[in-house]
Amino acid sequence: MSLFVTSLNSGSNGNCYYIGNANEAILVDVGISCREVETRLKRLGLDLNKLKAIFISHEHADHIKGVQMLSKKYQLPVYVTDATRRNGHLKLEKHLSKTFAATTQENIGELIITAFKKFHDAADPYSFMISSNGINIGVFTDIGRPCTNLIHHFKQCHAAFLESNYDDVMLQNGNYPYYLKKRITGGLGHLSNKEALELFRSHRSSSLSHLFLSHLSKNNNCPKLVQQLFDNHAEGVKMIIASRFEETPVFEICDEANTACNYSHKVVSTSTQLQLSFV
Ligand SMILES: [Zn+2]
Ligand SMILES: [Zn+2]
Repeated sequence: MSLFVTSLNSGSNGNCYYIGNANEAILVDVGISCREVETRLKRLGLDLNKLKAIFISHEHADHIKGVQMLSKKYQLPVYVTDATRRNGHLKLEKHLSKTFAATTQENIGELIITAFKKFHDAADPYSFMISSNGINIGVFTDIGRPCTNLIHHFKQCHAAFLESNYDDVMLQNGNYPYYLKKRITGGLGHLSNKEALELFRSHRSSSLSHLFLSHLSKNNNCPKLVQQLFDNHAEGVKMIIASRFEETPVFEICDEANTACNYSHKVVSTSTQLQLSFV
């Protein structure tokens, strides 16, 4: 069974990533409002009733802003570590508040969610890999440095949301105060275009079909520049910019080795194809 993925929003103004199969889906982070999640899923023809759980990567507002409301309204369990829940002041209904650990995997229907630690200036930050029938999707944003854990998981991905936060020159020449520049580049901040490209070029799997360049800085990056940079090295991988303003189309991710699924780069649904359903 294929997996269907989209970024509902990506950037310091809000992050929300959808990964699902034909029957069930999860969101990684809800950094946009409940209403925006509803609107954007609807525009894409995705069924809210398929949402079964939310996983939270860390407590920064751009990752949790809409989680309480969405969880409450649709009675969705939220998987979040104690430290993240505390530091994010998250008030979840008791029966919907779940936890996860780096050493164990969570099963949501046929989706398997693996969490692993990342370097970021938050209380207890995690990245996730979502797997089903041998297809792996990574959600790798807010990463201070490309650690061995990240490389280990990135190597297995058929698609990944990978942070490409800033262009070195734009950041250095920009008007951010020194302490902020230090915070971004200091190993607990964000991944640069250069670091993301290096990770892709050195560690991509031959099964990687889609790369969603994510969490682009508004002030220190440019979507066109990132698109061009990665397209120049794509070698057959579809490069998609995850926007700060709108959802991406829904992409179907398949295992290319599976003959029943021998197409790539398939766009299943876009916001202009309102009536399209992929089930
Ligand atoms: Zn963030
Ligand atoms: Zn963050």
